[in-house]
This record gives sequence, C-alpha cells and structure tokens, in this order.
Amino acid sequence: MSETLARGIAPRQRIEDLERPALDDRSYRIITLPNQLEVLLIHDAQTDKASAALDVNVGSFSDAEDMPGIAHAVEHLLFMGTDKYPKENAYNQYLTSHSGHSNAYTASTSTNYYFELAASSSSSANKKAAETSPTHEQLPAVKEESPLWGGLDRFGQFFISPLFLEDTLDRELKAVDSENKKNLQSDTWRLHQLNKALSNPNHPYCHFSTGSYQTLHDEPIARGVKIRDAFMNFHSKHYSANRMKLVVLGREKLDTLEEWVEEIFSQVPNKDLPRQRWDDVSIYTENELLTQTFAKPVFQSRSLDFSFLYRDEEEYYESHPSRYLSHLIGHEGPGSILSFIKAKGWANGLAAGGSSLCPGSGLFNISVKLTEDGLVHYKEVTKIIFQYIAMVREQPPQKWVVDEQIRMSEVDFRFKQKSPPSRTTSALAAVMQKPYNRKMLLSGPAVIRKFDAERISQAMTYLRPDNFRLNVVSQDFPGGWDQKEKWYGTEYKSEKIPEDFLAEIREAFENPTRPAELHFPHKNQFIPNRLEVEKKEIKEPAKTPKIIRNDEGVRLWYKKDDQFWVPKANVNIIFRTPIPHLTARTAIMSALYRDLVSDALVEYSYDADISGLIYEFNSYAPGLTMSVEGYNDKLHVLLEKVLIQIRDLEIAEERFKIIHERMTRNLHNADFAQPFHQVGTYSRYLKTEKGFLSDQLENELKDVTAADVQKFYPQILAQCHIEILAHGNLRKEEALQITDLVEKTMKPKRLPPAQWPIRRNLILPPGSNFIYERQLKDPANVNHCIEYMLFLGTGTDHSLRAKILLIAQMTDEPAFNQLRTIEQLGYVVFSGASITSTWAGYRILIQSEKDCRYLEGRIEHFLTTFEKMLEDMTEDEFEGHKKAVINKRLEKLKNLAEEGNRFWNHIFSDVYDFLSNDEDVKHLTPLTKSDLKTCFAHYLSPSSPHRAKLSVHLIAQAKPKEPTPEEKKTTAIAQFTTILTAEKITPNDAALKSRIDAISDTDTTVAIASAISAHLTEDLKLEKEVVDKVLDEAKAALGLADVGKVAEPEVLENGDVESVVKGGNGTTPVIIKDVHAWKAGLQMSTGGRPVKDLGEYVEGAAKL
Ligand SMILES: [Zn+2]
Repeated sequence: MSETLARGIAPRQRIEDLERPALDDRSYRIITLPNQLEVLLIHDAQTDKASAALDVNVGSFSDAEDMPGIAHAVEHLLFMGTDKYPKENAYNQYLTSHSGHSNAYTASTSTNYYFELAASSSSSANKKAAETSPTHEQLPAVKEESPLWGGLDRFGQFFISPLFLEDTLDRELKAVDSENKKNLQSDTWRLHQLNKALSNPNHPYCHFSTGSYQTLHDEPIARGVKIRDAFMNFHSKHYSANRMKLVVLGREKLDTLEEWVEEIFSQVPNKDLPRQRWDDVSIYTENELLTQTFAKPVFQSRSLDFSFLYRDEEEYYESHPSRYLSHLIGHEGPGSILSFIKAKGWANGLAAGGSSLCPGSGLFNISVKLTEDGLVHYKEVTKIIFQYIAMVREQPPQKWVVDEQIRMSEVDFRFKQKSPPSRTTSALAAVMQKPYNRKMLLSGPAVIRKFDAERISQAMTYLRPDNFRLNVVSQDFPGGWDQKEKWYGTEYKSEKIPEDFLAEIREAFENPTRPAELHFPHKNQFIPNRLEVEKKEIKEPAKTPKIIRNDEGVRLWYKKDDQFWVPKANVNIIFRTPIPHLTARTAIMSALYRDLVSDALVEYSYDADISGLIYEFNSYAPGLTMSVEGYNDKLHVLLEKVLIQIRDLEIAEERFKIIHERMTRNLHNADFAQPFHQVGTYSRYLKTEKGFLSDQLENELKDVTAADVQKFYPQILAQCHIEILAHGNLRKEEALQITDLVEKTMKPKRLPPAQWPIRRNLILPPGSNFIYERQLKDPANVNHCIEYMLFLGTGTDHSLRAKILLIAQMTDEPAFNQLRTIEQLGYVVFSGASITSTWAGYRILIQSEKDCRYLEGRIEHFLTTFEKMLEDMTEDEFEGHKKAVINKRLEKLKNLAEEGNRFWNHIFSDVYDFLSNDEDVKHLTPLTKSDLKTCFAHYLSPSSPHRAKLSVHLIAQAKPKEPTPEEKKTTAIAQFTTILTAEKITPNDAALKSRIDAISDTDTTVAIASAISAHLTEDLKLEKEVVDKVLDEAKAALGLADVGKVAEPEVLENGDVESVVKGGNGTTPVIIKDVHAWKAGLQMSTGGRPVKDLGEYVEGAAKL
C-alpha cells in the first residue's frame, strides 16, 4: 500500500513491489477499479512516448459457428465512433497530431488494443527544451494539456460507448476481407488453418478466425441476419470490465495516472462475466490422433511437423516444465536430433515447443525443415525423433539441465532492457490475463524459478507414439492431394498413419538400442559469469564513438557504454573490398560462402545463441561484414571461432549440395512473395548503377560448384581494409585486443583507400517520368503493385531531408485516407520518405487488384489534391506536424543494441553522420509553410516540369473474380456512403438506392457512375465544385476515374534519356525497355563520404 494519495482517489489495495530487472527505473502499481477492471500503471520519468493497452478476454475461440471472424470484425468496428467523439477518425487524427499511432489484434482468447503518442506536448523544437533532460521538463499542470490524457479519454470511450457507426460497417468489413485476401497465398496462414481445420470439430481451435466479406456480410445477410445487430450483440455478450486488463504508461506520477484511469475507465460497464475456459473438450480426440496429413504449399518448402496432445501449463509458470523438453528436443549442438539428421543431409532446421492454446488445452509441436533427401527419408527422421524422446524419458529429469536454464533466464531477466512503450503495454495487458502472482507479472513469463522433477516427469508422458499427429509439407510429394481446405484452398490428403509405419515408430521408441550420435547436450560453456558493469556517473552520454586506432590496415571506433549499464557489448567488422559485388556470379558465390560458414557453425554457436550471444556474417556491395553481440564475458571466444571458420572454411560436397539447393529455392520463392515485398528489389536495382535481380542470380547459381566457391572466397579476404566498431561494456584495452585478434587471424594484404568501393546512385534528371514494368511470376496472384518514387537530391543534404521528412509526415494520414479508405485501392498503402546517404526521395506504394497505370493516375491525383490541402493548412496544423517530426528525430535510444546499430549504420554508409538526427532538427525548426509549398511545387507536384519521377509497375497475371451486377451495386452504395461521410455530406439513402436499383444496363459500373452523378446534382442538389470532387472520388472507387489519368506512355527503346527528358517536360510517362541503356544515359551522384574530417573523431584529438 502506498501512503501518500492524491485527493479524489478511493482507498484500495495497491500492489507496487513487482519483481523487476536490475536496471528498470520505471515504477509500477496494480489496482482494481470498482467495476473489476484490473489496471497496471507504469510511471517512466524518462520516456518520450506514453502508451496504453487494453486486453479483453475474448477472441476468435468465441466466434459464432455461423459467423467466423466475428471477434476480429468487432475489433475493427469498435473504433468506429463513440458517443463522446462521434467522428469516426477522431481517435487517429488525435494520435497523428501527437506523433502517435494505434493498432489492435485478435487472438484466440484475447483481443488487444493499444496506442502510443508523445509523452509531453511541449515542443522540443524549441532548442532549450531539447537540451534539458525530460526529467526536468515541466509536466502540464492541467490534464487537458497532456497528450496522454486526451488519448486515454478517446481510447476509453471505445469500451464505454462504442457506436458501431452504420455507415462505416461495410468499409471495415472490406478491410477485414482485404486482410484475409492478403493472407490467402501465405503458407504460414494456410498451413496453420489446415491444422486447425483437422482438429476436433467440437473445439473452437478449428475455427477460421480472420473472417471475410462472405462470412461476415454476404452469408449472414442471405440468412436474414441483421449484421450490425450481430456485431453489437457479440460485443455486449463478451465485453465486460471484469474481463479487461488495462496498462497505462506515462511520464506522469502514479497517483495522477490512477486518478485519470479511475475517471475514465470506471465507466466501462461490468457484467461479471466468467473467465473463458475450455476444459471439457480436447483439441484432438482419437479421430484426429495418429493421422498423417500431406499438404501442398504455395512456396517451395518442405517440412515435417508433429503435434502432440499436451496440457495447459499456465499454472506451472514457476517451473515451466515444457521448456525442459523444448530445450533438449530443439537443441542444435552435438548429440541433438538436428545435429544427427543434418549430418545425414536430411534437415536444415528444427524447432520444438509447448504452447497453451487456451485455458484447458495445449499442444507440443516439433517442426523439422527437410532437405530434398530428408523428404525421401521422412519416416527415418520420425523414428530418430522418437528415439531421442525415448532417450530423454529414460532418464529422470536432469537437474543440471534445468539449473543452466534457471541461470540464463535469471541473467536475461536481470539485464532485460526497456522495450518501447506500446510493446510494453500491449504485452503486459495480455500477460495480465494469465494467472501469475501479481508481483511476478514482469518476471513470470521469463524466469524459471525452480526445478520441479515431478511436473517434468508428467510432461514427458505426453510425448509418446499414440498421442500425436504428423504433417508432411511438400510441393511434389506424394502427389494425389484429394482434398481442399475450405478457407484458403490448400490442397491436402489426410489419413490414419499406416499400421506398419506406426509399428516402426513404436519399435524405435521402445528399443533401448539407439544410435550413439544421440545423447544429452554437453555443459554449456557460454553461460556468462562475469556480469560486472563499471558504472560512472556522467553528465551527458556521448553521441559519437571515437577513433582509437587508425592506420593503413585498420580503423577502430570505440565507445564504452555510458547510459545503459548492461554487461553486454557489440563488435561490428567490415572487411572492405569490391570483390563480392563485381558481378552477379561473384555476388552469388559470396552468398553461398556466407551460408556455408553459418552452416558449419550451427552446432558450435548454438550454446552461445541460447546464452544471449549471437553472431552474424554477411556479404554486401562494399565488402563482408561480421558482428558479435551479447554478454561481453565470452564474446571474444565466439568471435575468434567465427573468424577462424571464415578463414578456414572447408566446403564439403554434401553440405554444398544442400545449401545450393536451398538458395535456388529461396531465389525462386522470392518471385512468389507478396508483390509489395518484391517491389523493393526492383526499385533498388533501378536506383543504383549495379544491382542484381533474382533471376540473374539464379542463372549464375545453376553451375557454381563447391570447388568454385572454395577457390573464390580466399580472394575476397586476401586484400581488404578492416573497420571495426567496439561498443558497450568493454574497456579500451579489450577493444584494442579484439582488433589485434581480427587482424592477426585474417592477415589481409592492405587495400589502399584509393581502391575502396564508392557508394553512388543514379540521378534522375528534372523532367524524368519513367516507368519500369515487370510481370509477376505467380500465375495465381491477382495483386498488382506500384512503387512511385520521386527523386529530390542527396541524402546528406539536411535542408532537403528536413523538407522531405515533413512532407512525409503531412501526407501520411491524407494519403492513407484518400487511397485506402476512400478509393479502397487495396489493403497495402504506404507513403513516406526514402532516404539513404546518396538518395533523398519520397515514395508511395500500393498493392491493389487495380492495374498499375490506373494506380499511377490515382497517386498523381492525390499529389495534386494534397498541394491544395497544403495551401489551406492552418499555421497551427503546420506547426503540429513539424513538432511531430522533430519529436520523432529526438526519440531517445531504447537500449545498447539500438545505439550500436545506429553507430554502425553511420560507419557502414561511409558518411559518419553520427549527429544526423540533431542536424535534421536544426533544419526542421525554421521551416515555414511557404518553404514547403515551394518545395512541393518544384519536386512533387505532377504539374512541375522540374520533378524527377520513376515508378515500378509489377503486373499480376491473374484477374480477380468479376462481381455480379448485384454485388457491384451493393459495393458501390457502401463505397459512396464512405465518401459522403468523409466529405461531411448528409446522405439521402432512399433516393440513391432507388436510382441504383433502377439500373439494368449491361455495363453496370458505368451506369452506377451516372446514377451517382444524377443523385449528387438532382437529389442532393450540391454545388458543381462539390459534385465534381465527390463524383471523381466515387469513380475512383469504382475504378473509373478519369481525372488524373496519366497519358499513354511512350517507349524508350534506347538510352537517349536526355532527349526524352528535354522534349517531354515530364507529362508523358516513358517506359524503360532496355535497363542497361537507360542507366547508361543517366549521371551518377556524388559518392558517400564523411560529413566531416574523421580527424575530429580521433580520441585525444591531433593524432592524424
Ligand atoms: Zn484486422
């Protein structure tokens, strides 16, 4: 109980002494409001973002049988207006204007809502505020001035009095539908759903949880269901204060937060609903157990998956028994299942773990990534897994194994660093639904507290040959899939496991003679012992690392941690050389080399990995990079081993074959990924002089042999420049020793600076209006994708960067609102800045069933509209946007790794612009609206002859199903209503409906457009200007827009860029046919180079 209470807070129990990480300076308080809503308050004096999350104990397991996806739909609809704030986007507008954002997700038994926004409204643009530490910054005296209060009040209303606005219904169901469509080709979703579909039909696990327009709209309406009522009923049946957990994190004192939360959230109605449990129904009955399923994936992938019927272990969080099993079965070191089957060439990976699916049910899963040969031997792999399980079960639970786990879990928790506010609140709100002792809310999910031999012994009894199912996933084995999963269309075949195979499994499980290769793991040498941190009080953390060694062969950057105080460090190294990226062939050989090194280190590095010490080895255009990151105690041990492996790799034919096959498959799969994931490859390829597309790499990969790579890789390392960043809990001498170790191990001949690779990109000249078209390879995909890029200049020009960042902020909400909400072009709509050291640009990306030329027109139309919006923007709004960008730039570093990454990015880019965020702020502060208008008119406005545009059009092969005339009419009415709402026009539903119903034309879409036009002028009697705007939007949503349509492109056969640009003035798009010739017609940017003399970074100055 805390003693001092602010006035107005009721006396109640307050839990404050939560177990917490050693470095956690947040304070916590748990209370329960009179309506039984349990709340966790977090005060963080240092935070620059405040956040809240609310988790409701209801999810897709509670979906009505005949309305799959209803819990998810309610999650979407809950945000559509409240009594107090009826405007549907009031919440998001408020968040955007305070540098915030929101999100939500629906899980099986939980629906989780959260938001994040600026912790304080004081403008950090003002230089003084930026310099004072936030602790001393004045908190607002009145709550109305705190962004968090306003956020909480808007957020809270969704749970007090949601309106489920009728006219937003259809649009949100479309959003759900679009979300589902986006998942349809994803194997993760497809295979997960297949597993669910084949479970006990009486357990809610079998539900289809996303929902679609069909399940949430068409079908229920056809049955005569009033769908809005159905959603509201679901809400009133399942949402109740006592089922909710709220977490609020802010800079305000706990008493203040408590007062606010009480004022708002006490109004949430309590219906005393019970906690959801599913005790009497099993996920698998004997009908589902002992079956084998063969499923055909979309991607080329192969796996063998086991699901054992297990138990719910929520109550056993002090011992986490399933982790004993997942640790051993999932081990990758010597003696493990993976080590054994990898040596046989049968597998590339293995994962194992228990999961509580809901209170009352759990599964234990093992998943093996198979090689081609492994697929042939999947029965042997199965038997080996059962042999290993039997070996583990034969021994009583091993205390030393659990002791290692206890030690590591304690160390990890003790030095756990803060995660960002909304991740903290959202995760904790979900955790609060579980039965943890409240003092262990933070530690409970992470820490293993005791060795409980009895519970582990019980756990082991679930893993037996009569208590599992198995899945084989492969595109070509065994063929003859005779069934289709209902929601995703996954082809599969399912049957009882044949008795002879089962007999072999039982024999493997029962026979005490087993391969000698299978044994318990060795003691883990990587568990850190030295955890001391030398903490020195300093005034201000240093913003840059220092150079402590700089000679012909090596440059070393060093910074000892001065703000996070964790016993961790990171060491990054680049071996700088142009060789890996000379040609597509050297690029693919370097990639094979990288994968072979990692493959050879799997067994060795596994113990390090589970002890919080990881390494990375990679190949990029400017050279090879490696890094080691984690507890600094054993860091040098891993570092040395990795270096030696990089230097001395011996490539075995069998491993090469496997890695080669895997890489071929990955390159192939890349062409079948979601179009918006693919588009970046093409954009980068066009923006730089040299770049390789996956088909070019695939072509070279075909005939590369193990001997080729073995001969090639020593040449990369024979001559290079080494640059290192040593950062964290390391003394200077240690940083120097590490550098010596790198140099002595690799012994490269030095590469003179004159030969270091220079980063450049191509420059699009003013007047450019280029389109690059490419057909997508997946014949089933119906989604096109456009990335529309505007080039403004170089990324180190801070004055330009500031303007782009601000334009990106200002267009963020309007672009989404216009292109996604109003025009409903597609689920994936991004807009924003794209800035590297050599490219400063702005881009818009859309993935849509509408074709790319059409999208191009809509984007241009949006840019034109936005120019007008900018003109009309008030000074207050403008300053608000500026403040939001500045706050983002000044966001505090969250942990050591984030600081390390930031330093490394600046080093790796050759620009060393460590103070880049501060520079941005300096240039943002004086910007005026007129500066931005000039910038926009020159560089972004489609009417500007000076702008430089390039877009990539990825074109789908398949067409979406043509809707029936009736479907078109229903959709049109819904879309039109959305537009009217956005334009704040009062609708006349009856008049519109009668006009639309009267249509009988064959060309329904065109007829709908004229009906809408007539409705606007004759029924609503709107002014011409308004009619034109609304009509254009309506046509855009119908796919008929004519305003903003782009001219028919010309084709650029040769590389004569100059004449095209001069002659066309940017209005006529030009299609790039010959990429090589086009690139040859362009000039190059200046290269990446230090923004200031590196001599200034040398420790103790004048050393250079
Ligand atoms: Zn959703």
